[in-house]
Amino acid sequence: MLQSELIVAKFGGTSVADFTAMNRSADVVLGNANVRLVVLSASAGITNLLVALAEGQEPSQRYALLDEIRRIQYAIVDRLQQPEVIREEIDRMLENIAMLAEAAALASSAALTDELVSHGELISSLLFVEILRERNVAAEWFDVRKIMRTNDRFGRAEPDVSTLAELSRQQLRPRLETALVITQGFIGSEAKGRTTTLGRGGSDYTAALLSEALQAQRIDIWTDVPGIYTTDPRIVPAAQRIDKITFEEAAEMATFGAKVLHPATLLPAVRNDIPVFVGSSKDPAAGGTLVCNETENPPLFRALALRRKQTLLTLHSLNMLHARGFLAEVFAILARHHISVDLITTSEVSVALTLDTTGSTSTGDSLLTQALLTELSSLCRVEVEENLALVALIGNKLSQACGVGKEVFGVLEPFNLRMICYGASSYNLCFLVPGNDAEQVVRTLHHNLFKC
Ligand code: ASP
Ligand code: MG
Repeated sequence: MLQSELIVAKFGGTSVADFTAMNRSADVVLGNANVRLVVLSASAGITNLLVALAEGQEPSQRYALLDEIRRIQYAIVDRLQQPEVIREEIDRMLENIAMLAEAAALASSAALTDELVSHGELISSLLFVEILRERNVAAEWFDVRKIMRTNDRFGRAEPDVSTLAELSRQQLRPRLETALVITQGFIGSEAKGRTTTLGRGGSDYTAALLSEALQAQRIDIWTDVPGIYTTDPRIVPAAQRIDKITFEEAAEMATFGAKVLHPATLLPAVRNDIPVFVGSSKDPAAGGTLVCNETENPPLFRALALRRKQTLLTLHSLNMLHARGFLAEVFAILARHHISVDLITTSEVSVALTLDTTGSTSTGDSLLTQALLTELSSLCRVEVEENLALVALIGNKLSQACGVGKEVFGVLEPFNLRMICYGASSYNLCFLVPGNDAEQVVRTLHHNLFKC
């Protein structure tokens, strides 16, 4: 096998959710001889159940969660032709989970959490190997922790890229010559050998890192949507799949809420110029989107993204007029409160900004605390507006083109535009509208700019 022909295929949770999904994914793998390395997520729902256990639960709740995990995984085991081959190993994993969950109930820790949640990927990969073996495929299970060395920032560990390259060359590449290798996304190990994880949704990152280490020709990411669309098809049924898109455009989309891919996870692919294909394992024949460094004839308007529940902070102060350092003070306060700013516009005596809610607490608590507001109020007058939505238009050379303003805003006459950001990126123009208008704004724009 030529190295340049290697394709790394990654399957997300829904693609390995149950026996049927796993078999469909196996068909996809076997449909392309260049796929020699498969990276898997945990079966859908399993990571969330494990995270709940890691938080520490009372016995009754703990048993309920453990039962649910067992039910999901046994539903796959039970449909194998020879379940006995794998049952003991799966049972051992389930026992481990129960033991760790009990420990977490006494004292939870980030290291324990990672150890616990890693079992989702360990189990799904064991089951997938068995499904392939029953089809007489020479499939081999590979523990990615042997090569995915990370620091010990449990929960969000950073891999050591050069060690990964070296260990992949020694331990992984030779295996790819003789077997189809199945491994885990999301997990790694630190210097002392303890299990770490790369952060939620980290399997795409694993796939990109391994592709970089092996200098793969392409990464195929199989999920439950057939690629990236011009906008969310649930809002605009006429939205169209984009066949080819650049990393830059995709990055602007992902930051604006398109859940398909997260730009940071693709960084290893971007820096090595490895194209990433995104498709649906439920319907592989439908094709998908290829994300790469360059596309032919990049269109002025590419896609529309919507992000709901935006909070706008407006800060007014006459001191700002001809003053220096006002913004620095504002940002210092925000930084102290761990608030990252998303959009920003300024006038002579005021600043408007939205808060970046990506990576905010999973409990859904507001980022705006009373302490923050009090501190800002000592500096300036503060106004808070909630229930806004952010609409982002993604395109190419937007800031260089003429007539963009008229084309976009001309059709938005009936709507109130609360704030507009344009010019920071030539790939993006975005604005805030009242939350209730957001879908209509997206529909109107899509209809007019994308002619469908
Ligand atoms: N199973 C992990 C999660 O749910 C990693 C992944 O799916 O990418 O976050
Ligand atoms: Mg996932």
